[in-house]
Amino acid sequence: MLTIAIASLSGGQGKTTTSLMLGRLLSRQGYPTLLIDADPQHNLTTYLDLELQVNQPTLLEFLKKSVSAEDSIYPSEGNDNLFLIPADDQLDTVQDYLSNSGVGATLLKRRLDPVADAFKVCIIDAPPQRSQICLTVLGAADALIIPAEASVKGYGSLVRTLDLLRTLQDIGATDAQVMGVLPFRDRWIGNTQTHESRAAVDGMRDEVGKELILPSIRESERYKQAINRRSTLSDMGYPELEYPFEVLINKIDKLTKKKKPKS
Ligand code: ATP
Ligand code: MG
Repeated sequence: MLTIAIASLSGGQGKTTTSLMLGRLLSRQGYPTLLIDADPQHNLTTYLDLELQVNQPTLLEFLKKSVSAEDSIYPSEGNDNLFLIPADDQLDTVQDYLSNSGVGATLLKRRLDPVADAFKVCIIDAPPQRSQICLTVLGAADALIIPAEASVKGYGSLVRTLDLLRTLQDIGATDAQVMGVLPFRDRWIGNTQTHESRAAVDGMRDEVGKELILPSIRESERYKQAINRRSTLSDMGYPELEYPFEVLINKIDKLTKKKKPKS
């Protein structure tokens, strides 16, 4: 299983949009995919229409090991290849547990080990803060996708995320490598990219190098519509808007082939 964290240390950078759209496309293309909602705001769980009863296990119980892995993994409706470990508001209470455990950074990775053969790809929607949850998510990841708004705020979010990643790499708390930076809400007027978007994407390119900059997600209501209608952009008649995800799936395909199966 290739584990990919979708992380960016600011709100509204496209983490949940990317997790959901990538998860749907991967599973449709035949990859058994596990999504993990690691954000206490639990938007991913909401978009997948999982209505949890009060006592049903979520990522909180999965991390605390009070249920077996299988009990916290739920199938998604209408898609045989797509599964979810959901979150609810209570996920925030795991922060103390993670910091007191002393091994917080490796906890999620170890908990996922027993299910690693059941899925080809695992995608984790990280929270927007530099929290204990974020650390355990990065600790579990083989690869990192950083969505960042094509704006001053998005550039700052990228820089903070890279800074955290390097700190964790330096102390051996993660092996994750950046797989791509995904400019989000890139604004164009006709055939001209706005000045702010262009400056932000140029800045991102200077940070990570041009080979890691993915094709942008353009500013467009269609993405929101697809999420709200529980549909995909291609089913709505806009396959060209899925191009950034197609490029990502090509990269993921290569990485899954490179990653050795567990011995
Ligand atoms: P948070 O940090 O709060 O979890 P996030 O990084 O997960 O945010 P999203 O929720 O994916 O970000 O996106 C932020 C908002 O942008 C959402 O309301 C989403 O519907 C909207 N959005 C998604 N795609 C586009 C797009 N292409 N153009 C404009 N808005 C978009
Ligand atoms: Mg989100």
